[in-house]
Amino acid sequence: MTGSTSSKRVPATLLRGDGIGPEITEATLRLLDAVDAPFEWDEQVAGLAAMEEYGDPLPENVIESIRKNKLALKGPLTTPIGGGFRSINVRLRETFKLFANVRPAHTSIETGRYKDIDLVLIRENLEGMYVGAEHFIPVGDDPHAVAKSTSYNTRIGCKRIAEFAFDYAIRNGRKKVTIVHKANILKLLTGLFMDTCLEVGKQYSEQLEINDKIVDNTAMQLVLNPGQFDVLLTTNMFGDILSDEIAGLVGGLGMTPGGNFGHDVAVFEAVHGSAPDIAGEGIANPTALMFAAAMMLDHVNEQSKANRIRTTLDRLIREGKMLTRDLGGNANTTEFTDAVIAELT
Ligand code: NAD
Repeated sequence: MTGSTSSKRVPATLLRGDGIGPEITEATLRLLDAVDAPFEWDEQVAGLAAMEEYGDPLPENVIESIRKNKLALKGPLTTPIGGGFRSINVRLRETFKLFANVRPAHTSIETGRYKDIDLVLIRENLEGMYVGAEHFIPVGDDPHAVAKSTSYNTRIGCKRIAEFAFDYAIRNGRKKVTIVHKANILKLLTGLFMDTCLEVGKQYSEQLEINDKIVDNTAMQLVLNPGQFDVLLTTNMFGDILSDEIAGLVGGLGMTPGGNFGHDVAVFEAVHGSAPDIAGEGIANPTALMFAAAMMLDHVNEQSKANRIRTTLDRLIREGKMLTRDLGGNANTTEFTDAVIAELT
């Protein structure tokens, strides 16, 4: 599938995903082929298609494949809203203990007030509200009278993500890490997160500036003065929300990639979801998944191929002649992908 001539092949699981997933995955595979990426794809089906075929959106063969390859590229997967099956994304993160979610965002094109955004959000990926410990409490004849959700953070989980984030910051030449929490209200839950991160941070104080901020103020400051931030380190739910906000600073969800890391497995994806509102129309912006593929190349020490992807995307998008509709252009997914490949240097 890759058409590579490189000798060292790297096995990796491929999940095309739901909604716009197959469209942006195809575009990304074409680009990876064009830079001679080393991946040997083991394609598996997860999501709505797997639900229809196997009665499980995350069948065992997907788990087995990722367990074997320890590396995956995935398109977005749909999660039913309200009822229905539990998020496959959350199940994947839990199964492979992908405790760290890295979501970088940088300006490729000036679409808003800022021209030089360069932020990385690091999100704890396994704890907090996402543990899914929810139930209803019946009152009288109403079985759903009260909805209850339990959230937890552990000291060991906070320490693990803090060490990951500070090490990431140093490895990537970052200068400052802001710990984002709500410890004024959720004094124990996010107080434990803040205290543990600050404690771990003491060992890094000579290399990094470390501060903390309450999440609501952070959300506002990101809009008003994003230049004050560098790396943001936060809990699961806050990270999910703030990373979409940050995507909004660089042109929207079509632009931002993510990597999910455990101790031995990594899964790369776009920050965005399956975008059912535009699925099948061939107009989705594949840039986010292409940047995620570049992160995947970094992960396997193919930095020069990763940089070729990033610089080409940045140059093409900055020129503004070939843009998808979310960025104000008219190009469809295929036209944009053709242009990226033609622009590769
Ligand atoms: P979404 O991210 O799918 O879409 C939000 C908006 O952004 C939509 O208007 C969409 O058209 C637009 N958008 C997203 N990606 C785009 C792209 N590449 N190009 C152009 N426009 C793009 O969020 P949603 O609609 O709230 O969620 C849809 C589904 O995706 C839900 O089932 C949700 O659970 C799932 N989801 C999955 C992931 C994941 O797989 N990691 C992440 C987020 C949401």
